[in-house]
Amino acid sequence: MGIRYNKIENKNKREIVLLKSFPCKYGKCKFCNYIEDNSTDEVEINRVNFETLEEVTGEFGALEVINSGSVFELTEKTLEKIREIVHEKNIKLLYFEIYYGYKNRLNEIREFFKGTEIRFRMGMETFDNEFRINSYGKNFKVGVAELEELSKKLYSVCLLICVKGQTKEMIEKDIELGLKNFESVTINIFINNGTEVERDEELVRWFVDKYAYLQDDARVELLIDNKDLGVFEQ
Ligand code: SF4
Repeated sequence: MGIRYNKIENKNKREIVLLKSFPCKYGKCKFCNYIEDNSTDEVEINRVNFETLEEVTGEFGALEVINSGSVFELTEKTLEKIREIVHEKNIKLLYFEIYYGYKNRLNEIREFFKGTEIRFRMGMETFDNEFRINSYGKNFKVGVAELEELSKKLYSVCLLICVKGQTKEMIEKDIELGLKNFESVTINIFINNGTEVERDEELVRWFVDKYAYLQDDARVELLIDNKDLGVFEQ
């Protein structure tokens, strides 16, 4: 059972939907279990998504779509339905997720939703290239040029923190670079999920103690529990 619709009312008010999509094209991140929600059955995908999107009221003028993958893995019909709802409910701001490999295709989405502001979020997980590639299995390197490019193209990045092998210094650096380069950061404290990546309880204690104030920072979305957005499949 899961919950696919919610309202975020503390900061950055918006409605949020967890939609179903085709399998994540990358699919190799070592900590990722959410791709279990992916499907290859287009009819089923659209059925679930249309039903979920029915709940959107447009009350905040902002809608976030997450889909256990990238916006590019949603079906054409789902994208069209989102566009319909955006117009019907007068939504001015849309949030979507992307994987690094799609960074040069963002204009396609902007074009499709012309007239609506689009904010893209990407799972950076960490700015430490070696850790991202080797420990998280996210196969891309971000150098100075890429960081500059991404800071222009994306609204925010997600950081995954408090896992075994990470150090306090790495987390401090990640938060610093995230806030320096992006308008917003989403910080996920990792929760064991049956994958090979493991949570480090000592780092969690240290982080919560040191960074609790981030809860009040409008630029930071702090997910202490991965169900904090109120949408999940399980
Ligand atoms: S890109 Fe996202 S959905 Fe795909 S495997 Fe990685 S974390 Fe999971």
